[in-house]
Amino acid sequence: MKYEAVIGLEVHVQVRTRSKMFCSCANVYGAEPNTLVCPVCLGYPGALPVPNHEAIRAAVRAGLLTGCSIAKYSKFDRKSYFYPDLAKDYQISQFDLPFCVKGKLHLSGTGFSGAEIPPHEVGITRIHLEEDPAKLTHFGAISGADFNRSGVPLLEIVGEPDLRSADEAYAYLTKLKEIMRYGGISDCDMEKGQMRCDVNISLRPVGTEKFGTRVELKNLNSFRAVHRAIEYEIDRQTEELNAGRELHQETRGWDDEAGESTVLRSKESAHDYRYFPDPDLLPVTLSDEEIEEIRKTLPEMPDAMRERFQKEYQLTAYDADVIVADRDIAPWFDKAAAKAKNPKLVANWLISELMRELANAKITIDECKITPENLAALTDIIGGGTISGKQGKEVFAEMFASGEAPAKIVEAKGMSQVSDSGAIAGFVAEAIAANPKPAEEFKAGNGKALQFLVGQVMKISRGKANPQMAVAELKKQLQ
Ligand code: ADP
Ligand code: MG
Ligand code: ZN
Repeated sequence: MKYEAVIGLEVHVQVRTRSKMFCSCANVYGAEPNTLVCPVCLGYPGALPVPNHEAIRAAVRAGLLTGCSIAKYSKFDRKSYFYPDLAKDYQISQFDLPFCVKGKLHLSGTGFSGAEIPPHEVGITRIHLEEDPAKLTHFGAISGADFNRSGVPLLEIVGEPDLRSADEAYAYLTKLKEIMRYGGISDCDMEKGQMRCDVNISLRPVGTEKFGTRVELKNLNSFRAVHRAIEYEIDRQTEELNAGRELHQETRGWDDEAGESTVLRSKESAHDYRYFPDPDLLPVTLSDEEIEEIRKTLPEMPDAMRERFQKEYQLTAYDADVIVADRDIAPWFDKAAAKAKNPKLVANWLISELMRELANAKITIDECKITPENLAALTDIIGGGTISGKQGKEVFAEMFASGEAPAKIVEAKGMSQVSDSGAIAGFVAEAIAANPKPAEEFKAGNGKALQFLVGQVMKISRGKANPQMAVAELKKQLQ
């Protein structure tokens, strides 16, 4: 039997705010454990939560950027469960009235395997806002709980079961991450736990509609792990079904080192979270004006930017992909390209020279001494023929080291090419007079002699003569 995979992702994204979701503790990663805490995020009885409006606005931004409807009336609910990372024994979350519902994501690009993803849209069921529990770290027989993470605003983005392969799941995560980063909602650094993902997956015979029994996979801590886990799970479920065994709805954990999934718990032990509205928090109402005001501040999204760069700046699809893939480089390039006479040349220098130098120096574009204006100026100087491309590299290296403007470097190094025809005629005449033999040879048809004479002109001009003009002038005088 041939099966088709049906996949839906639940993605958690930590919102980048200054303070936590319901208290004024700092939302900062990497501080000494349990130093950014207070009675609210430690779950002391009687401590009262106060919602972070910035986090709510971020949730609305996330919804607008994924085409969701934004709820004008929503509320926070208590989700009850008992676990060492949850001092209150309930998590403040949202149940039936989340901030955002019924959105979509445009899939395109390539999957993890490199295969092309045919452009199409997949659904987003809902986006709700909740608080992150504390972070547990296990040290052999004992475990530590870090409540610095407790109360960090967390978005849960529940996707429709519209994905059909590991590659599509990978493309979905890539797009979602791009949107969250461009939207200023989260940095989505998976190593810091800022983006986490659960995978739901089932199989159905190809050509049928009805969904099969789903398995939920947890502990996936990279996009690569998601891809591997799905491929593994498709194989495992196919084997089970082909052997005539029934699948059970269960939660499985992914062990990336072993490359396999194992049962964590079955549906029978599923939680009853006893959701009910949190009596400590008022429902949240958003006016049309407020939603519109947020909509107006939305930045341009990567898909739109890629298209604009190709149209406006004549970039290739590849150039646009490379530049837009980096959220910090893209606006930097935009600034430089807008200033330059030849934006495509800016893209070339950015991709082949600047990005390499940034990687070598292990710095970001914001730490780089070259300004967008100065890279634009460099390409103008090269494009205008004042200096050669080779000299351009020397100027570029100097710019990278000192941050000096290219025109100043060109002047200080006495680099500018001589393109004055009178001066070049003088160099050429001098070169011919000093080398009568090669001059005769050229007249007799020896092409190599011309190269020698060009070399002499460059020597006399101390490397400054415009080489194309020197060749033309030599031919003219010799003929
Ligand atoms: P739960 O809260 O138990 O995880 P949800 O109804 O919130 O259940 O569903 C979670 C995810 O499971 C969603 O992303 C959805 O797309 C996905 N999903 C639901 N049914 C299936 C199925 N049969 N196969 C694969 N994924 C599914
Ligand atoms: Mg789930
Ligand atoms: Zn606190």
